[in-house]
Amino acid sequence: MKFDTAYSLSLDDKLSIYDVRDLNFDETTDFDSDKDSFLCPNDECRAAFDTSNALSTFNAKNVNYLRTPHFKNKTSTRHIEGCRYTSSHKTATDENDDEREDNFPSEFVLTRRQYERKTPVVSTEGNVPYDPLKVPSNRSSVSHSPNDSTPDKTSVFAHPVECFVSNIDDKDKLKSMPLKIGDHTASYWTFFKKIEYLQDNKGLIYWGKIKEIKDYTSSFRIDFEKKVWLDKKPYSVNVYLSKKLIENYRKRKAFLEQIKAAVDSERALYCFFYGVTPKLQQVPSKRNPEQTFGVFSANIENLDHLIIREAPGVE
Ligand SMILES: [Zn+2]
Repeated sequence: MKFDTAYSLSLDDKLSIYDVRDLNFDETTDFDSDKDSFLCPNDECRAAFDTSNALSTFNAKNVNYLRTPHFKNKTSTRHIEGCRYTSSHKTATDENDDEREDNFPSEFVLTRRQYERKTPVVSTEGNVPYDPLKVPSNRSSVSHSPNDSTPDKTSVFAHPVECFVSNIDDKDKLKSMPLKIGDHTASYWTFFKKIEYLQDNKGLIYWGKIKEIKDYTSSFRIDFEKKVWLDKKPYSVNVYLSKKLIENYRKRKAFLEQIKAAVDSERALYCFFYGVTPKLQQVPSKRNPEQTFGVFSANIENLDHLIIREAPGVE
C-alpha cells in the first residue's frame, strides 16, 4: 500500500512524498523528515489513534534519485475499519506497485507550494503538542488557494517525472492521464517530449539521455546524446546552468552533490527539464575562433524544473 499523501505532524498539513523530499533538501527550512512523524491522511482514522501510530518513508532523503519514493505502513501501523489505507487490503500486486508511481497529479503548479509550520518544533521528537481530535484547519492565507494543495496538484517537478518514467511500459496509461501546466493541457505522453523532437512544439517537458556534463566548477553544461535535425543537418543540444543560478538555489548543496556524482557516473543518466526550449545559436569554434557553428542551446532559468536521474526502460 502506497500513500498519495501523509499528514505531517510538524507542519500540520498533508504532504506528498515529493514535498517531503523537496523540504529535506531545502536549505532555507529546518525540515527533517527523520524528526517528523507522518500519520494516516484520513482525518477520521488519524483522530482515532495517538501520534505514535505513524507511517514510514521510503527514499525520502536520497539525493541521488532512486525510484519510487513513497510513504508506507509500518508493520505496527493501525487504521480504523474502512480506512482506504489499511494494510489488510495489500495484495501481491501491491508489492510490484511499489515500483511505479500511480498517483498522477493532473496539474504541475509552477509556483512553489508554501508550507507553514504551525506547531513549534521541539528539540526531541515525540514531544510535539498535538490534539488527536483536531482535523487540519482550512487555510486560505497561503499563496495558493486551498485547492492547490490537494494531492491532485503538485509543485514538485520530480512527481510528474516519476509518473512518466515509472509507467513508461504502459503507454496507454500515459496517453490517458491528463497533465496541465500553465494554460496548456495534454496527456502525460504528449507533454514529455524527446529532446531530438524539440522543434515540434514549445513549452513541453523535454528529456533525453545525457552524453556528457561539462563541469566548469561553478557552472555546468549538460550535453544531450541525440541531435536535432534542421534542414537535413544535425545539431547538438545542450542546456547551461549558470553559476548565479546554482549559487542562489535553495537546494544548492543537494544539487551540487547530485550533479557532481552525475559528472563521474558510468551509468546512463537522463535530464528532464521544463520552462525553456533550446534554440539554434551560433557559437564560436574552439579550434578556430573565427568560425562559428550552430547548436541548440538554452539557459536553465529554474533549477526546480530540472532533474537528472536514471530512467530505466525509457529507450
Ligand atoms: Zn488510516
